[in-house]
Amino acid sequence: MPVYNNYISVPRFKRIGYHIKSTRTISTTSVFNLESGEMIMPSLSRRKFAQKSKSESAKSSKSSLKSSPDSAIDLKIESPPLVLYGPPKESSGALLSGLIHIDNEQGKEWESFTMTLLAETLNKRPVHGACSDCATQVDVINRWTFISATTTASARRDLLLSYPFSYLLPGHLPASNDNALSRISYTLVARAIAADGDEVQFKKSITVERSILPGPDRHSVRVFPPTTLSATLKLPSVVHTGSDFAIDVRLDGILNKAKNTRWRLRKVNWRIDENSKAVSPACKYHSAKLGGAGKGVAHEDIRTVGFGDIKTGWKSDFESADGKIELEIMAGIPAHTKAACQLDAANGSTVEHILVVEMIVAEEHKPAGPSRLVTPTGAARVLRMQFKLVVTARSGLGISWDEEAPPMYENVPAAPPSYGIPDSRTSFSYAAIPPPLAQMLNGV
Ligand SMILES: [Zn+2]
Repeated sequence: MPVYNNYISVPRFKRIGYHIKSTRTISTTSVFNLESGEMIMPSLSRRKFAQKSKSESAKSSKSSLKSSPDSAIDLKIESPPLVLYGPPKESSGALLSGLIHIDNEQGKEWESFTMTLLAETLNKRPVHGACSDCATQVDVINRWTFISATTTASARRDLLLSYPFSYLLPGHLPASNDNALSRISYTLVARAIAADGDEVQFKKSITVERSILPGPDRHSVRVFPPTTLSATLKLPSVVHTGSDFAIDVRLDGILNKAKNTRWRLRKVNWRIDENSKAVSPACKYHSAKLGGAGKGVAHEDIRTVGFGDIKTGWKSDFESADGKIELEIMAGIPAHTKAACQLDAANGSTVEHILVVEMIVAEEHKPAGPSRLVTPTGAARVLRMQFKLVVTARSGLGISWDEEAPPMYENVPAAPPSYGIPDSRTSFSYAAIPPPLAQMLNGV
């Protein structure tokens, strides 16, 4: 089955529907689609769900909120996209700020209004397949209380219930990530309870990115004993998913003058492997499966997110002292592979990328002198090299909140010279205009 074209030919909802049919044994209200990592709901359970009381369905379904015209929560994020700049140990974090309001046209009285920022980790290989507690771990990152028992009664009935909120996301937090084994996502969940018992909920997922800023190119040298061959590679310091990057390769020491032999490059293969690791913890009901509480199962997954080969297009120089071969490899991570960015989370989820370059060289014999007779000796070698790649999100503006310096009072320059106001009683004359502008108008 073609994996990459599947979602193009088959509409998304049909795929989920097919998935539900195949998992009839799961009868809980929430099922995780392990392939896409999304929470899906079996059609049977959804029907049952709709029959529940209105207030109950409002608790867990966002769509039902729209059908209730009484009151609704809305949220506007005013801060720029959340990007944590630099590695976790150095990052100064990202600012989140916005405005949240309850549509309170009917002047209802609200008893409580809170919002939480949740970090959700979904294990795609949970200890117990059908257990949502095993599959998902939720951490509360921050909590805001807008209306509580201490809020004055009149403020709770305001027609315009609007509250600003802000939070500095710590730099050590893992960025949103979706890899082969785990998915880390962030959600803002707001909840308001009215005095008459009505409850409204609001959910908004937010994306947190980590961007490691590009530095100078990396130069790596690899030697291949017992031959005299050595390879020098120039790699970019960071790469991004969905884009190409160039690798400059130089192969030195290809001539062996004592034996009258030389190495000729035949083919170059490259590939980028994504190595994901995750620890799936067990919930309290299934910890017995692992022989006690506080244990988890470690998983590892390696998949290729980019590959290619080159058969021509390099430059062989057999004339210099020990000869050299130069070439440029255009490598890249196509967007359709949905590669994850580099990750090192505190819960054991990690994602790393390795670039593997293989150069196949064959030895040939060329006698000294004017003879043009070149014969292959039959010897060949695969020069295999591995490099760690830093796959990170694009940096955008590339300025973190603490380096963003708004202009201070003293930075504002003196105002430009005034243009002088022509006297309304006299006719307009160029004399009223300061010299530079008047010169411009005169074409001087
Ligand atoms: Zn469980």
